[in-house]
Amino acid sequence: MKVKSLLLAAFSICVICIFNVHLLHAQSVSITAVKAGRLIDPESGTILSNQIILIENGKFKAIGANIEIPKGATLIDLSGLTLLPGLVDAHNHLALTYKVMPERNIYYNTYITESTALRAIQAASNGMQMLSSGFTIVRDMGNNGNYADTALRLAIEQGWIPGPKIINSGIIIGGMGGQFWPTPEMGEKNIVYPEYLDADTPDEIIKAIHQNMLYGAKVIKICVDCKPWGYSEENIKLVIDESARAGMKVEGHCQTVDGARRAINAGIWSIAHDSGMTDELHKLMAKKGIWRAGTETPLSLSEHTTPERYAKTVALLKNAYENKVPLTYSTDADYYVPGKTRGEVAIEFIETWKAAKIPNADILRAMTINGYKCSETEATRGPIKVGLAADFIAVEGNPLEQIDALRTVKFVMKDGEVFKKDGVMTPERFLHGGPVNGYNIR
Ligand SMILES: [Zn+2]
Repeated sequence: MKVKSLLLAAFSICVICIFNVHLLHAQSVSITAVKAGRLIDPESGTILSNQIILIENGKFKAIGANIEIPKGATLIDLSGLTLLPGLVDAHNHLALTYKVMPERNIYYNTYITESTALRAIQAASNGMQMLSSGFTIVRDMGNNGNYADTALRLAIEQGWIPGPKIINSGIIIGGMGGQFWPTPEMGEKNIVYPEYLDADTPDEIIKAIHQNMLYGAKVIKICVDCKPWGYSEENIKLVIDESARAGMKVEGHCQTVDGARRAINAGIWSIAHDSGMTDELHKLMAKKGIWRAGTETPLSLSEHTTPERYAKTVALLKNAYENKVPLTYSTDADYYVPGKTRGEVAIEFIETWKAAKIPNADILRAMTINGYKCSETEATRGPIKVGLAADFIAVEGNPLEQIDALRTVKFVMKDGEVFKKDGVMTPERFLHGGPVNGYNIR
């Protein structure tokens, strides 16, 4: 009996082994082949015709003109379109959408009228709208309620919903009040939380950084000069050093020349907004290789800039480009524009880059290569290269000749799955009843 049982057990194990081998084999031959009419390499600013891209297990497997399409591969014919890597918005707030009504476009009011839970669901929708417009990576830089940005990132990474790769900052760390000016009564109740973490002393700064790391931040964001006293150069250095202990970079919100200068001297990774920028500071940023996330609002979004402000923004962007500052495409598009999706609002910002007379190839570099570098994804996601996550988009026309071609995103692939085809979102491949990529992703 014993021998018989052992034999039976051994047989069962063998059957299981064989079955598993077959399963693995069946998975490994699931290859997608894409026929690309044209393929842009933004790094070199060149375009190749009639390329074949093979994708296996969510990653690029082969790219070239003479690639043999394996038997049984799923074929996607994009021979009428131009393929390029996904776009990056280096500064957005997906869990914040302020509106004319009821907030009068003042985001101070949004966090009083809308719960973090509601904002997290809005973020899920905004993420899909961004992905549909070709943004496969978004740096989400605070003002996201009580860590709705982390919830969004996890929901996408664990496999519940589609969305861009999210590089999120958690709660913005600032001196008392953050960007708000609460009354003493409200200040006592710390009404700025959870939009800002009050951190004035070195101990408070370190604790705030640790809190963000604990609750899922991947980059640290500080208010450098939201108050006239702001953070000193030493404070900013402390933030940079403490963040580096967990391998994180620091973005500084800078709105004054003095603040931007302190952030540059301290050696910050990226500076958000252009109000503190000057020709002199651009030269320093170029020398130090500091990323510029200028958030250049176009005049066409008339509720959110003025002709005078826009003229200054265009001149500063042009000056930054001429000084060879590392430029990212960044929008700060955290509001509702009736008639437009979040992605359509974000792509509208190419108008400012066109107005600054920046060549199309360099606009595209800012929107892709520079975005991957600033997000620190370039080794895993972004470029269309063998071994990297299979993310790409396809448009009509050629963005190297006419940058507005980026407004016609017809096809989006993320992690090897089709999210948009023939101009229509097809999210079902991304929707799951459980955390298919792992519940322990943090
Ligand atoms: Zn912002």
